[in-house]
Amino acid sequence: MTEPLRLSLAIPVYNEREVLPTLVARVGAVLDKIPGGPHEIVMVDDGSSDGTADLLEQEAAKDSRIVAVLLSRNFGHQTAITAAMDQVNGDVIVIMDGDLQDPPEVIPQLLAKHAEGYDVVYAQRGERQEGWYLRVCYWLFYRLVAMLSNIRLPLDSGDFALLSRRIVDAMREAPERQRYLRGLRSWVGFKQIGIVVDRAGRHAGKSKYTPLKLLKLASDGIFAFSIVPLRAALVLGLLAIVASLVYAVYAILARLVFETNTPPGFASLIVVIVFLAGVQLMLLGVVGEYVGRIYEEVKARPHYILRKVIRGK
Ligand code: UDP
Ligand code: MG
Repeated sequence: MTEPLRLSLAIPVYNEREVLPTLVARVGAVLDKIPGGPHEIVMVDDGSSDGTADLLEQEAAKDSRIVAVLLSRNFGHQTAITAAMDQVNGDVIVIMDGDLQDPPEVIPQLLAKHAEGYDVVYAQRGERQEGWYLRVCYWLFYRLVAMLSNIRLPLDSGDFALLSRRIVDAMREAPERQRYLRGLRSWVGFKQIGIVVDRAGRHAGKSKYTPLKLLKLASDGIFAFSIVPLRAALVLGLLAIVASLVYAVYAILARLVFETNTPPGFASLIVVIVFLAGVQLMLLGVVGEYVGRIYEEVKARPHYILRKVIRGK
């Protein structure tokens, strides 16, 4: 490490009573060995109903490094992380899940990459311990989002990552409500790199992500970083119009040159229907284009993130 730095961990917890003591112990042990400091562990209780909040307060009373942030109700994983990011004071922030699926023991590796000059070091999943069904879903999900979005999103990486202070500050400037943090993280830019980390199984308890919550996350990922779905109507409409014109030419040739016998009116009906459907879809696409632009505007993200300003004397 080049200079002593303060490390902040940002950990959302929701009904993780069974995991919390082990989490605090393992994370604490890792922090003990990291030079610099004082480090802090910012844990956000996302409106747990199983007494996690009380437990968290007790842990905070025992360990001065723990900052307990209690939310008024369950706001969801991404919002809980956002709350943690609003509280951290460190020079370097590590976001990790509170169920020990992100092993705290790799934090020194993340720090080593940071020391090489990277602002974002994210964990890229090696082995996953989930069932094949979930693995297929995640595989598809990351590729779909990456294909549709207009910024480059790294594949197979979740929220487990090290962020430098300026990354956190930049992400906090994005006021959008439906947050897809791993997208926002790569949107910010600067030097980013992934390292392969095997994803452990849950230490205890079960996943707090219901299929519905996962679907919501997927749609946030796709719709927050892409207006491709809105443009689809435009493309489909154009295709339909072209198809109707091709068919019109074919119908004329069929009648005049090949002299086939289609029932009268059939060709013109098909051409008119497909053509008009195409025009409608295309206009819908035009409306979609405007809606998309309005959407981009209301997200009100900063236009750019500065890296440095150099002024001549
Ligand atoms: N979590 C949260 N609020 C929620 C759901 C989850 O703070 O509404 C936390 C949870 O306690 C865990 C992390 O977010 O620390 C990841 O959730 P989980 O392990 O359930 O998701 P999975 O790993 O199954 O995708
Ligand atoms: Mg988990």
